[in-house]
Amino acid sequence: MFEAISLLAWFAAASGAPVPAVDPLTQPIASSRAAQWLAPVPPEKIHGNSYLVGFGGMSVALIDAGAGLVLIDGALPQAAPAILANVRQLGFDPKDIKFILSTEPHFDHAGGLAALARDTGATVVASARGVEGLRLGKHAADDPQLAYGGSWPAVTRLRVMKDGEVLKLGKAAITAHATPGHTMGSMSWSWQACEGKKCKAIVFASSLNPVSADDYRFSSAAGAPFVAGFAQSYRTMEALACDILVSAHPDNAGEGRYNAAPGACRAYADRSRKALAKRLAAEKAEVAK
Ligand SMILES: [Zn+2]
Repeated sequence: MFEAISLLAWFAAASGAPVPAVDPLTQPIASSRAAQWLAPVPPEKIHGNSYLVGFGGMSVALIDAGAGLVLIDGALPQAAPAILANVRQLGFDPKDIKFILSTEPHFDHAGGLAALARDTGATVVASARGVEGLRLGKHAADDPQLAYGGSWPAVTRLRVMKDGEVLKLGKAAITAHATPGHTMGSMSWSWQACEGKKCKAIVFASSLNPVSADDYRFSSAAGAPFVAGFAQSYRTMEALACDILVSAHPDNAGEGRYNAAPGACRAYADRSRKALAKRLAAEKAEVAK
């Protein structure tokens, strides 16, 4: 009698490796925006030792510290193999990735972290609230998008960094900047990338998008810390040395995959400030009705 055997299981058996037929850490999370987020684009150098290894609608950065590599963000679970392929295409070995920095505990930026950490041996770094969310693999109880539900692969090897703390690896020194608002654990990252004596301050900014699930109100008592968080984040973004802005969602930073226009980080903060003001005004109008 003919016995059905999956192609994957056959390959696993043929190679002699104990490869599970289904990788639980890269199972796709369906989203109507996944195709746009994960539009394939070739890896690209930003400046000096810094590269983009993500997608058309989702940023992932790579920094070559000389004594190892640092990745920023992990996109969706199904994106992990393509990110590692992009790292290899640039001539780097994914096993040299020592740290993966996270901008926020949401599935679209953090879904791939567990697979990337497993496949590289890297430690995932985030704010205290970020680490909490990554360890759970789901929204925090106070997350404005909590009602959307859902979960993503949880991360186990984690390290907390505080606002202003500097991660040092080889020639790289990457500063953590708390940028709460979109989530309370959101964190942005900045560093200097040099080509000879020509150095540029690069900022990888967390999403500052004031969005929520339908019934949530930023003007509620629960929303107050988030509104205050956004205000703090605007001050931080405006004060940062910022020659080049990479936004977690590139389309929030203007045209292209990064923005090297003067004042890019100030414009980024301003865009969110206007969106939040509009949102709060709409909530107020709704109450007045
Ligand atoms: Zn988010």
